[in-house]
Amino acid sequence: MPHRARRYLIAIAALAAAVLFRWLLDPVIGDSLPMVTVFGAVAAAVWVGGAVPAAVVAILGYLACYYLFMTPRYAFVFDLPNMVGLAAYLFTSSLIIAIGEAMRRAQARARERSDLLRITLASIGDAVITTDNAGHVTYLNAVAESLTGWKQEDAKGQPLDTVFRVLDEQTRKPIESPATRALREGTVVSLANHTLLLGRDGGERPVDDSAAPIREEGGRMSGCVLIFRDVSERRGLEKAVAARFLEARLLASIVESSDDAIVRKSLDSVIQSWNAGAERVFGYTAEEAVGRHISIIIPPERLAEEDHIIATLKQGRRVEPFETERVRKDGRRIHVSVTISPIKDEAGNVVAASKIARDVTKQRQAEAEREMFATLIENSTDFIAIADLDAVPIFVNRAGLKLVGLDDMDAARKVHVRDFFFPEDQARILDEFFPSVAAKGHGEVDVRFRNFKTGDARWMAYKVLKLSDDKGQVLGFATVSQDITERRRLEDGLRQLAANLSEEGRRKNEFLATLAHELRNPLAALSNMLEILRRTGPRQPAPPPQAVDGMGRQLSQLVRLVDDLLDLSRITHNRLELRKGPVALGAVIDQAVESARPLVESMRHELRVVPSPEPIALEGDSARLAQVFGNLLNNSAKYTSPGGKIEVKTERHGKEAVVTVKDNGAGIPPHRLDSIFEMFNQVQGSLERSQGGLGIGLTLVRRLVQMHGGSVQAESAGEGKGSEFVVRLPIHEPRPAASPAPAPARQPSAGRRILVVDDNHDSAESLAMLLNITGNQTFTAHDGADALDAAAKQRPDVVLLDIGLPTLNGYEVCRRIREEPWGKEMVLIALTGWGQDEDRRRSHEAGFDGHLVKPVNYPALIALLDSLGVAK
Ligand code: ADP
Repeated sequence: MPHRARRYLIAIAALAAAVLFRWLLDPVIGDSLPMVTVFGAVAAAVWVGGAVPAAVVAILGYLACYYLFMTPRYAFVFDLPNMVGLAAYLFTSSLIIAIGEAMRRAQARARERSDLLRITLASIGDAVITTDNAGHVTYLNAVAESLTGWKQEDAKGQPLDTVFRVLDEQTRKPIESPATRALREGTVVSLANHTLLLGRDGGERPVDDSAAPIREEGGRMSGCVLIFRDVSERRGLEKAVAARFLEARLLASIVESSDDAIVRKSLDSVIQSWNAGAERVFGYTAEEAVGRHISIIIPPERLAEEDHIIATLKQGRRVEPFETERVRKDGRRIHVSVTISPIKDEAGNVVAASKIARDVTKQRQAEAEREMFATLIENSTDFIAIADLDAVPIFVNRAGLKLVGLDDMDAARKVHVRDFFFPEDQARILDEFFPSVAAKGHGEVDVRFRNFKTGDARWMAYKVLKLSDDKGQVLGFATVSQDITERRRLEDGLRQLAANLSEEGRRKNEFLATLAHELRNPLAALSNMLEILRRTGPRQPAPPPQAVDGMGRQLSQLVRLVDDLLDLSRITHNRLELRKGPVALGAVIDQAVESARPLVESMRHELRVVPSPEPIALEGDSARLAQVFGNLLNNSAKYTSPGGKIEVKTERHGKEAVVTVKDNGAGIPPHRLDSIFEMFNQVQGSLERSQGGLGIGLTLVRRLVQMHGGSVQAESAGEGKGSEFVVRLPIHEPRPAASPAPAPARQPSAGRRILVVDDNHDSAESLAMLLNITGNQTFTAHDGADALDAAAKQRPDVVLLDIGLPTLNGYEVCRRIREEPWGKEMVLIALTGWGQDEDRRRSHEAGFDGHLVKPVNYPALIALLDSLGVAK
């Protein structure tokens, strides 16, 4: 049924009930108060249905009651009293209707308000709890239900502290809810800080809460309302904001305290911010720099860089770190490493650029210095290395690696410092030297380094230094060592040389003494024999032939001594020369035997010569080979007591000729068998035992044999047990040659005209005498000028010319004679004490035909003259 109809229905029902009720009262009240019940119906109608139904009820009720209960009953009389009564009735009814309507409206309004409040409370985001004056919960909205975990029906009537339990966030102690205080103090309480709500399920959440007393219209307090909200999200937000704030502050302080220059610039290159680092690096203060163009720090020639930078930034790209040059306020150029990044707004547009510049000038310098040192070390010829505390090399320079035969640092890192030394040196270095370096900080020792590849040794001046950091912590050991192998070799050589020199000096002194001694012997004999000759005369018997023979022997002894001396000089100057040709060994031995024979016979030795069954041919210098065997035979004769036995035997062993000279004489101690071949080395080494030699014979023998490609060896069973010298020489098979053409027969020579020139008068006269005796005509001269005169005047066939002459020397005289027409064919022979090959060469160059050494060997002179075709 529609609401309105219902309202009218209820109004009519109330009217009917009022009429009925009057009718029932009628017996009691009669005609009085005919309308009395209608007022109730009007009041009910207005309350339930409002003013219009109530007015309907009032009118209908009047009409019904007037008709039914007013006298006259069942009729309508419109007289004055009735009109007044009607007016009073209408007034009263209107009043009732007006009051009723007003009340009805008030109630509707109150209901509406209450609904609004309820809906508001239910729909707001905050939680709301209301209590009565005793603090018991009277209402909970849905948010409060969800935050506290209490349902409205459970919570109602519960003490507020049971439903709304709060803790202090920090102390976690229960705290009083603001509602309690609001109730107690009747004031608004808001506590927004650090409160944790403990839910019914034990969950916790941070809340903001506040409370206010509820006052009725009269101001009486009827309870309190508690409003709170979950602030977890806000707290999170707050934390995030705080964190960002902190981060921003941190960044700002980093920027400020950074050593790097951090600069913000706009896209048109105007400086916008300038940190303390930038002030330090570039020298401008922030006030000076901000607002100015970035080109104040860019060198003019690098301005193009900035265009490139800006272009890159505008594309939103970072400019990768690069090194460049910038200029300070004071004009000084600095090296900087620069990184530039775009700064974007929230929409992602590039709005500015941040530039970080680091001053790397010092690093650059340090790098350059480091580079310099590295180059120095790498190119040093010293061995430079560093080893760590485990004695493993961590650096070895190029020279070092080469010296010890390591290919590279990888190879070096695999070895231990110990392995650089030879096993026999390791203990000395590792157990003594290194500990002393560790204690003193440095040390130096000469030691050999081992080459890992070849195993060779190099002597090193090994200098080691302890490397420590600032705090004295030992980091390792370094070495800068020099290769002193060569120096040591030179030192050893010098030492050896000094020793040799003093030994040689000693031997030379001994030699001079020996020489004097050896010269005296033949001189003494000669002087005796000369005396004998002097005493011969018409009345004196002729000198005994032994005396003359003895003179010859002594003379040849003297000559041999002088020859030995010359050979000595040739050996020491390495100027021995061979005049090689085909040699018959047998003839050489015979010649040697002949030269030794005088001594052998004077000592009454028995000499046995055992030749080889067939002749042996050699290639060599026959005179020198004869000298070799002559020396050996002479030695055997000298060092064997008179009446001894000497044997010289020639054999052929394959391609070698072996000549053995053996005696049963003094013998040689085994330890001297080698040293006797050294110069001035004589077994006894004392003058008393010297047997007429200078100690160079065997040296000469060995050298000559070696020059012939052979060897010589001494053997002896010991002192007093005889000696044996074995000479081996390579055999030279002669090529079968056509038999030599017979030499042209020399014309028998007639008497010669000979000019003898010598500043030594005795020498000149005696030779002239000798030549006269042998049928020649002689002249003499004693200086160069005289010689030239005599040659020009006498025109001799031959000039025997001494070289060392006063006024003009022999070479000069020779040259001048050769310049003369008559001198071209003259036979000029140098007669001199100088017999070296060099002297022979010079005399040949000066124009001499021959060169003889004094004292002249007469047969040799005659042979030479013959060979030159000078007729006798
Ligand atoms: P020297 O002029 O002293 O003979 P040599 O060089 O010929 O010099 O000989 C060196 C030394 O060797 C001699 O002094 C001698 O002590 C020893 N010696 C050489 N030949 C013989 C030998 N046949 N018997 C013993 N000793 C010899």
